[in-house]
This record gives sequence, C-alpha cells and structure tokens, in this order.
Amino acid sequence: MTNLLPEMAEIWQQTLNWQPSVQQQTQLQKLYELILEGNRQQNLTRIVEPQEFWEKHLWDSLRGIAPLLSANFYPASPAIIDIGTGAGFPGVPVAITVPNCTITLLDSTRKKIIFLDNILNELALTNAKTIVSRAEEIGQHPQHRRAYDIALIRAVGAASVCAEYTLPLLKQGGLAIIYRGNWTKEETTDLQNAVNQLGGVIELIEKFTTPLSDSIRHCLYVRKVANTALNFPRAVGVPSQKPL
Ligand code: SAM
Repeated sequence: MTNLLPEMAEIWQQTLNWQPSVQQQTQLQKLYELILEGNRQQNLTRIVEPQEFWEKHLWDSLRGIAPLLSANFYPASPAIIDIGTGAGFPGVPVAITVPNCTITLLDSTRKKIIFLDNILNELALTNAKTIVSRAEEIGQHPQHRRAYDIALIRAVGAASVCAEYTLPLLKQGGLAIIYRGNWTKEETTDLQNAVNQLGGVIELIEKFTTPLSDSIRHCLYVRKVANTALNFPRAVGVPSQKPL
C-alpha cells in the first residue's frame, strides 16, 4: 500500500473554496503517516486507506469549519476546543489549516492524549495544546467555562449530550459545531429541547454528502445566546446516562 495522500486540489477548491498550502499538505501527509504508525501501538482508527483517510478524516474535519476558512470570519483568532478528540479529529486538521486559531484538544483517555502530544511536536503545531479530562469536569472549571469561541465535537454521543458538553464552555455568542452522519427530525426535537435549557439556539442544520463516496453527513451549528445555568454540565456520566 502506498501511503501517499491524494492532493485533491480541485475538490478542496470546489467544496470549501480553499486549498492547502505546500506546508499544510506536508503536515497533513505527516499526520497521516504518524496515525498509521500509532495504529500499530493502539487502536486509533479503522480508516487507513489514503483516499478514505482523506475523505472521512481530513475533508470531513474541515467541512464542519468551512465558515472559518473564509477570510471574514469573526473573531479572526478564535479560541477553539475539540471535545473527545480521540486521534485528533477534527482538531488537528483544524490546527493545521487555521493557523491563527488556538485550539485545545480534550480527551478523557490519557493514552490518546500522549499520542497527540507527540503529533503536535512532530508537526510543530504551536497553536494547539492537549488536556486529559472529561467534558463534564472542564465545563465546571473557571479556566475553561465560557472561555471558547468555538467548540467542535465529532462522534462523542447523542447531539443533546454534545450540546451539554459544548455550550457551558462557550463564550456568549460562541458556536458549537456538532458533526453527525445521519440525522432525523426526532433528533432535532431532542436537540431543541436540550439547547433551550442550555442557553443555545440551533442556528443551522446543514446536510451534505462527502465528495468521494457520497456518504451522508450533517453539521449542526448551535449558537450560545444566553448564559448556561451553573448546574450544567451535570456530574461525570450523567449527561450520557440521562440526556436532557
Ligand atoms: N472525535 C474523534 C473522531 O471523530 O475521530 C474521536 C471519536 S471517539 C468515537 C470518542 C472519543 O471521545 C474517545 O476518544 C473518548 O475517549 C472521548 N470521550 C468520550 N466521552 C468523553 C467525555 N465526557 N469527555 C472527554 N472525552 C470523552
């Protein structure tokens, strides 16, 4: 198997109106190689074939933050957090492509964070840092609560759980971006109910397909419009066991 990522300049351009610079392409390639290497020590991802990795990890990560890739996004240097980042998605591709952001990569599994510390070091990504903790804990921590402009969350749980993890961490006016595959009307009702309690509004539910395999995706954009009550997020484990 060749480990060379496809460049896909045209698809980047057509779908995101953006293309990686030579340096960014080199960093994305290196990220891919480090993940393949890390996969030998721990189970990081089953997506290892170059085209599939490009589509399901790199393109998918960046599709969610399409608004940030445009030049007029405000604020220009956003503070971002990626909750339950795992092997670094969507956070690491975001750190590579939005160099003026600062990004915190959070995961409750120490082994994954140790792996990510090495990635950040190897890619010389000085705009990213890692934390081993749970979303329920840092959501109540004065240093993190209401500290972020954007909170990203992919494949961590039901959308209402994701809302409870993300909204307390956002500044008022901040944006939670919840990455999903399929999506139903019932889930919109549940999410609506959760964000009402958390000080958020659903700003946009965007449906799209991935550019190579035509797989269905949804991105949910939830804006924080009011303070989140202090009882949220609830204690560790409660949001996922008793979703709002
Ligand atoms: N976001 C990555 C992706 O899309 O490839 C990883 C998804 S993985 C299925 C879920 C990750 O979320 C795991 O690494 C897990 O340790 C982490 N996680 C789950 N619940 C969490 C919580 N309450 N706080 C922090 N991390 C959590």
